[in-house]
Amino acid sequence: MTLLDTDPDAGLAPLQFTVTKNLAAKSASERDQVLQNPGFGTHFTDHMVDICWSVGGGWHRPRVQPYGPISLDPAAAVLHYGQEIFEGIKAYRHADGSIHTFRPDQNGRRLQRSARRLALPELPVSYFLQSIRELVAVDGAWVPNGDDQSLYLRPFMFAKEAFLGVRPAHKVAYYLIASPAGAYFKGGVQPVSIWLSEDYARAAKGGTGSAKTGGNYAASLLPQSEAYENECDQVVFLDPEGNVEELGGMNVVFVMKDGTLVTPQSESILEGITRDSILQLAVDRGHKVEGRAISLAQWREGVASGDIVEVFACGTAAVVTPIGVLKGKDFFDVQPSGPLALSLREELTDIQYGRREDRHGWLVRLDG
Ligand SMILES: *Cc1c(COP(=O)(O)O)cnc(C)c1O
Repeated sequence: MTLLDTDPDAGLAPLQFTVTKNLAAKSASERDQVLQNPGFGTHFTDHMVDICWSVGGGWHRPRVQPYGPISLDPAAAVLHYGQEIFEGIKAYRHADGSIHTFRPDQNGRRLQRSARRLALPELPVSYFLQSIRELVAVDGAWVPNGDDQSLYLRPFMFAKEAFLGVRPAHKVAYYLIASPAGAYFKGGVQPVSIWLSEDYARAAKGGTGSAKTGGNYAASLLPQSEAYENECDQVVFLDPEGNVEELGGMNVVFVMKDGTLVTPQSESILEGITRDSILQLAVDRGHKVEGRAISLAQWREGVASGDIVEVFACGTAAVVTPIGVLKGKDFFDVQPSGPLALSLREELTDIQYGRREDRHGWLVRLDG
């Protein structure tokens, strides 16, 4: 399916962006120096996109402008009540130099679902995609070409109205910034150790767990520190029913002895596009896939009995990461390891980097 077939906003007239070039843009050699070792989330490209929204004016003043600080009134609602959402998506450079992104319609629609939950306006998916094209048009040289490197795109939206009353803001800003990203795992994929958060949850029944909103991340930071104190890399949360939910920013998948992939399903889970894609690739290979509740006891017993043969986490930033250890206050369970997680990871990244046929039509070319 092409974007036009699925985008309900396809009939909208495109936005007319005003482009202001950054006169202090990095030189080619300064940029190359950054791209040699970009790390994650500390370097930014020369430009950013912003689009305003207001109750009376709808979406207006679309701009590409030099990357730089945002000026906000101290009473801006986002600073007080956290009315904010975001997305995470990557641009990949193929061997022939072309630039592609992966399933952007899915991110655009998820931004709309998050917007609904946070009482923010829904950015049309076609505008979302246009914002990515506009930024890559000026900053395409920032898409690195090294192994497992990418340009991480961060769309976000927040309440900027200066008003301390509590209601959905009448003025909102949408921004898109971009940050070159190095390989997540240097020297090969490493299994991660996971701390079970028993005292804290990231989401509540009827809460915002399924929206990509900063507040969920704020709620995950203290348990994440607890994970570090217990020598674990990441934290796993249980949902309001005590079932396995997800990590702070990645979904969880269990591989069963008979080849079935099981992933937790609950209203508080953020539905990852990486998870959806990985599960589709598994279905293509003939695996059965089930979305259902899995309790902590079922996880631990499944590992002990050998019914669970692999456990992995997935998300845009790290793609697929095997889980090597689950640690709690009074237990330490080594997780089984197997070939499926890494083989699905390789298939997915092969598609993203143009090394394998894109049979689902997931890639969208951004340059040219
Ligand atoms: C973004 C995110 C994920 C992963 O989603 P992808 O679309 O695969 O990147 C998983 N959990 C949470 C809480 C997230 O915010």
